[in-house]
Amino acid sequence: MKVVVIVGGVGGARFLLGVKAALGLPAIGAAPPGSPHQVSALVNTGDDVWLHGLRICPDLDTCMYTLGGGIDTGRGWGHADETWTVSEELKAYGAEPTWFGLGDKDIATHLVRSRMLRAGYPLSAITEALCDRWQPGVRLLPMSDDRVETHVVVDDPDDPADSPRQKALHFQEWWVRYRASLPAHSIVGVGAEEAKPGPGVLEAINEADVVLLAPSNPVVSVGTVLAVPGVRAALRATPGKVVGVSPIIDGKPLRGMADKCLAAIGVETTAQGVGRHYGARKTDDIAPTTHPAQPSPGGILDGWLIAEGETAEVPGVDVAAVGLLMSDVEATAAMARAAFALAGVSVE
Ligand code: GDP
Ligand code: CA
Repeated sequence: MKVVVIVGGVGGARFLLGVKAALGLPAIGAAPPGSPHQVSALVNTGDDVWLHGLRICPDLDTCMYTLGGGIDTGRGWGHADETWTVSEELKAYGAEPTWFGLGDKDIATHLVRSRMLRAGYPLSAITEALCDRWQPGVRLLPMSDDRVETHVVVDDPDDPADSPRQKALHFQEWWVRYRASLPAHSIVGVGAEEAKPGPGVLEAINEADVVLLAPSNPVVSVGTVLAVPGVRAALRATPGKVVGVSPIIDGKPLRGMADKCLAAIGVETTAQGVGRHYGARKTDDIAPTTHPAQPSPGGILDGWLIAEGETAEVPGVDVAAVGLLMSDVEATAAMARAAFALAGVSVE
C-alpha cells in the first residue's frame, strides 16, 4: 500500500511513528527489505530559516531525527544527548539571534545541508543524503525545493506609538522568540505562489492508496503544504481517499500555540472548525475560510477524525471519533488504523 502523510514537525513526526506501526513496519528505522508498504511524508518547509549562515529546516529535521531514533524525546525536537558549546560561544560574541536553540550535534546537520545548498544541490536531494544516515523508513519529501517562508504580520513590538507600525516577522521569531504572544494580523507564505512542488510530491499524491493529514498545525504546517500550487488540486483529484486527524482536542491544541495561528485566519479552535476549514472534497464548495496564501480554495477531505466524546459536523465529510492522544506508539498506531478504516482501506 502507498500511504502519503502531510506533516509538520513534532505532531507530524509522532503521527508518522504510528502510521509505520499500523502498517506493521518498525516505528523507528528502515523498513525491512521487500516490505509491501511505502510511506511518503510531504513535509512543510515554510519554517525553514537561515541563521548564522546555516540553513535550518525544523520540520524536516524533527521528522528525520524522530523516525531515525535520534530525537530528544523530552523536548520533541533536536538531538538526544545534545550539548550547547557552539551556542554559548556565539552568545559570548553577541552574535544574534540568541533565541533559537542550536545544539552542537544539530549544527553538524545544518553544516552538511548548508554546504550542499551552496554547492547547488536541491533541498530534496540533500534531505535524501541526510536520510542515508538516519534511515527514517519513510520517504521525506520537502513540499518544495523553492524557498518558501512563513511570515507573521504583527504590531512592531519596538514601536512605542499608540498605533504602532506593522512588521513582518519570520515565523520562527514569532513562535520561538515571542511564543506567539504578539497577536498576528496575518500569516503569509512568502514565495508560496511561485513555488513548484518538490520532486515526487504530486506523483506521490496521484499514486496514493490513501492520503492522511497528520494532526499538525493546520495553518503553518499543513496549510503551508496546501499552499504550494498544484498540491490542493492533486489532493482533490487523487483516486485515494483523504482523511485528516484533528490536532484540536476539547477546543485546545495539544502542544504549542496553534490556536493563535487559527485565530489569525479566522478559524475557530475546535475540531469542527478545523474540519470545515479543510472542507469536503466531494463538493465544490469553497471552504468557509482559507489560508491567505491558498490560491485555489476547494475542500480536500473525505474523512475527519476527531477526539472521543466530541462531535463535529463537516458537511460532505465522514466524521469518526476515537482516542487522539499520541501518548505512545501503540496509541498513535490505533489512531492511524482508525484513519485507514475511515478511508476504507485494509492494512492486514
Ligand atoms: P511543529 O511543526 O513542531 O509545530 O509540529 P506540527 O505542526 O507537526 O504539530 C503541532 C500540532 O500537533 C499542534 O497543533 C498540536 O495540537 C498537535 N498535537 C500534538 N500532540 C498531539 C496529540 O497527542 N494528539 C493530537 N491529536 N494532536 C497533537
Ligand atoms: Ca513546524
